[in-house]
Amino acid sequence: MALEMEAGGPGEWESPLYREAVAQFDRVADLMNLDENIHERLRSPQRALVVTFPFRRDEYKTVDTVFGYRVQHLHTMGPTKGGIRYAADVNLGEVAALAMLMTWKCSIVGLPFGGAKGGVRVDPTVLSRAEKQRLTRRYTMEIINFIGPDKDIPAPDMGTDEQVMAWLMDTYSTHVGHTEPAVVTGKPPSIGGSIARREATGRGLMSLLPSVASHLSLPVEGSRVVVQGFGNVGQYAALAAHQMGCKVIAVSDISGAIHNDDGLDIDDLMHYVVETKGVADYKESDKIDPDKMLTLDCEFLVPAAVGGVLNEGNAPDVKARAILEGANGPTTGAADEVFRENGVFLVPDVLANAGGVTVSYFEWVQDLQNYFWSEAEIVARLREIMNRAFSEVLDTSIRQQTDMRTAALIKGIRRVTDAKLARGVYP
Ligand code: NAD
Repeated sequence: MALEMEAGGPGEWESPLYREAVAQFDRVADLMNLDENIHERLRSPQRALVVTFPFRRDEYKTVDTVFGYRVQHLHTMGPTKGGIRYAADVNLGEVAALAMLMTWKCSIVGLPFGGAKGGVRVDPTVLSRAEKQRLTRRYTMEIINFIGPDKDIPAPDMGTDEQVMAWLMDTYSTHVGHTEPAVVTGKPPSIGGSIARREATGRGLMSLLPSVASHLSLPVEGSRVVVQGFGNVGQYAALAAHQMGCKVIAVSDISGAIHNDDGLDIDDLMHYVVETKGVADYKESDKIDPDKMLTLDCEFLVPAAVGGVLNEGNAPDVKARAILEGANGPTTGAADEVFRENGVFLVPDVLANAGGVTVSYFEWVQDLQNYFWSEAEIVARLREIMNRAFSEVLDTSIRQQTDMRTAALIKGIRRVTDAKLARGVYP
């Protein structure tokens, strides 16, 4: 089925990234013999809002007008959920593609959400704190009827953080006339944010390592782990690996890559990075070529930085037994094929990094109930959800003799399809 065949012709969200998301969906839908009507329906987002709005710069006479977006892919499962990114090149096609991926991610781990994504086309690095606040408050007003605890719940993404979520929550609450923490997740804990949200994606990812190790008959203790990216996801993934007795033998960030065969002291490295802003000159290690780091001999490779880093150029040289995708889209389609052929076991992003949205879900539940859980409860529930999803996906992959990425998408798409068939078409 080509994009051109959609009712109304190609969507306004037509873009390379959207085409890629649809192609991936089409491939799995065909494999599943998905009901044709449902297949067609899920190829387009349910609602897409484009706004333009002004915000005042610190130099009072300057008012900039920018584009803002919010796309909700699917309302069948409950409210929609997904981040808001501030980036100079964000566009409707990108946001729509990411909203579709959020639908599959939420469905794979069994959360009662459809996917959404939002964005403002602005370079956040040139904005002062006051400018970012005015921009956020005005963007919130532009989408205020589109979001809400029962409708659509934003979260941070690239270029946005806890503070941006706090301004969004405050603006929304002021306009509805009461405090409404459940309208966003990823807020500071002082206003209803969940503890352990910051660590959630890295921790959730690493909670799968023992299951992967057991499936591949590898030990956990002493296994060698390589982590690309030492930001939010990479740091907490490396820390969790270190704490469970693995040897984290190499890490990298934008400043460079470091290596120590005996294993790096991740607690110490995290403190070091707070002070120096980069891993490159850390003392207890040797510098290595960041590209070569990805092909080091190791048991577990964790790409946790940017997209497309494992590609046809380096995939044949990857020696890791398993890849746990912390980043979104770190592996290209061509590399995926190489890994399948070479027997590299890959846990795909839609499953591996779902810990973030899972703890966001916990935050929303806690806000709605005004009852807050302990860190131990959050971590235990996160582990349970991640590991249940992992073993269901592994079962599907074994039963259908397919790779983990395809199996994860089959699981996600099937759950959505069952819900759509049960609800039927109105009227
Ligand atoms: P972050 O900005 O906190 O960290 C990114 C890290 O990657 C930094 O250390 C940066 O220096 C490093 N980096 C950037 N380019 C690099 C390169 N070319 N080589 C090596 N290192 C490089 O971001 P994050 O929140 O950790 O997100 C990382 C990835 O995980 C992204 O793809 C993001 O979409 C994905 N993700 C994040 C979350 C979350 O909860 N934060 C959830 C799901 C997916």
